[in-house]
Amino acid sequence: MDARNWDQAIRKLGKKATPQRKAILTALSQQDKPATVDEIFIEVREHQKTSLSTVYRNLELLFSQGLINKQGFPGEKARYSLKRDTHEHTLVCIDCRKIVAITGCPLESYAVEIGLRENFVVLDHRMEMYGYCQKCSQIRGRVSD
Ligand SMILES: [Zn+2]
Ligand SMILES: [Zn+2]
Repeated sequence: MDARNWDQAIRKLGKKATPQRKAILTALSQQDKPATVDEIFIEVREHQKTSLSTVYRNLELLFSQGLINKQGFPGEKARYSLKRDTHEHTLVCIDCRKIVAITGCPLESYAVEIGLRENFVVLDHRMEMYGYCQKCSQIRGRVSD
């Protein structure tokens, strides 16, 4: 999703594309990995008068409307990122939290198959894979004992 489509996307949900919300989406688009509320707040504050709780509320709104991703590892702050596509799968680096989007869906035919087998109407699915990105696996390789 690029900046030109945000107005549209937000309005389609019946919400106002306030400068605040656009600034949050812009801030998210500038992150190369999922960011915490604090990180997004620092970025938005550069351009907008805002508060941490406003940024948090808007992030939760955008997440609940399906415009952004939210993920959290146990015991850590939630991290938010832009949804680049309506349907995408990701590789998540458990070291630096970098996310690599996978193009194409390997589960489409499986979803149909499992739906038929379980007599279940499958509408959507999620899949994330965890591991080390190229950079982190190289670093690990170097320091391994
Ligand atoms: Zn990494
Ligand atoms: Zn899929």
